[in-house]
Amino acid sequence: MANYSYEYVLVRYGELSTKGKNRKDFIRKLRDNAKYALKEYPELTYDAQYDRLFIHLNGADYEDVKDRLLKVFGISSFSFAIRVPSEIEAITEAVFDLVKEDTGTFKMETRRHDKLFAMSSDEVNRYIATKILKNTEMKVDVHNPDHRYIVEIRKDCTYIMPEVIRGAGGYPVGIGGKALLMLSGGIDSPVSGYLTQKRGVAIECIHFASMPYTSKAALDKVLRLAKKLSLYQGPIKVHVVPFTNLQLEIYKHSDESYAITVMRRMMYRIATGLADKRNCTALVSGESVGQVASQTLESLQAINAVTTKPVIRPVISFDKLEIIDIANKIDTYDISIEPFEDCCTIFTPHNPVTKPRLDKCELFESRWDYASMVQECIDNVETYTMNFNDPDVQDDYF
Ligand code: ATP
Ligand code: MG
Repeated sequence: MANYSYEYVLVRYGELSTKGKNRKDFIRKLRDNAKYALKEYPELTYDAQYDRLFIHLNGADYEDVKDRLLKVFGISSFSFAIRVPSEIEAITEAVFDLVKEDTGTFKMETRRHDKLFAMSSDEVNRYIATKILKNTEMKVDVHNPDHRYIVEIRKDCTYIMPEVIRGAGGYPVGIGGKALLMLSGGIDSPVSGYLTQKRGVAIECIHFASMPYTSKAALDKVLRLAKKLSLYQGPIKVHVVPFTNLQLEIYKHSDESYAITVMRRMMYRIATGLADKRNCTALVSGESVGQVASQTLESLQAINAVTTKPVIRPVISFDKLEIIDIANKIDTYDISIEPFEDCCTIFTPHNPVTKPRLDKCELFESRWDYASMVQECIDNVETYTMNFNDPDVQDDYF
């Protein structure tokens, strides 16, 4: 495919079963997100139609464009294409230009969007295939061809494409609103953020930092993780919570075995307050069942009791290795395993309770005025905006 000079990208929409306004919103959002992802290529122009998005390359390098498009959610697949008039001879000639470089077997795949076109899809397939068979050594194989020649006949023009590239799937980020991701420096939370984005939900992040017990390097690591996630949505805000004072109070007033549970309840309270402030409808966390003592069902119940926000836990049922596979795919794994302590590792007690009781949590919490400290944490977050393509531009996209 490398030697051909493509003029267009034909983008096929993902899970789009809706009609009317939802469909329009989907298409507009997908176009805007693709445009944002390809911001560095101002020569590109976009034409979002009812069933396809067409991007005119205007000379841009298609390998670069491909890399960027692969990260845009809401795209089921895309193809690089050349465009010719919807006339059978022009179409045949254009397919032949592709065939020139190829050997082996092939399959013709024609789709006729313009039902007024004089020939049926089958007739077009046969017409062109006959010519290829006559003029080259290539053979037809409809089941497992070496090459596919895809022809999409539309009213105004016809697109000729040598391959279908699988897209990222999911929904255009932002179409499903916004959620607040609890981002630690670990492996699970960045993966959870990515999986949330995939469903069309944009994210902001909240990170609990325990300076001076945690280092600047630990924070830097979290910011770099957010930057990786920005590849899928554009600018991502990271709200860093000064958590130390509250944590120290927790340890002063709770049994050591309950400290983690109470700490998590505080995290969820702060996250809930910040989510309200930032217009985030849900919280996202990297918790899964059974990994550690604080992730039993009883523990999740005790923690969840402090919030009425929906809590999305995308990796809840995944094995660690499955999570690591995704972390590798999105390039966060190597950052996540850097050895900087986060707040949980530093304050981890030796014998955390595996089945915490709600009344006990409440008893420990009644021993001091945590609510004002929670509010202080919400009021004093320090916010960073991370963005993959222009680190200096602190622009607001969501
Ligand atoms: P991860 O790999 O995401 O750190 P984990 O398996 O280490 O997860 P925990 O450390 O128990 O599990 O944390 C569970 C979840 O709680 C994390 O996935 C994250 O969503 C949230 N969390 C934990 N620590 C922090 C923190 N310092 N800042 C923000 N969120 C946190
Ligand atoms: Mg962790």
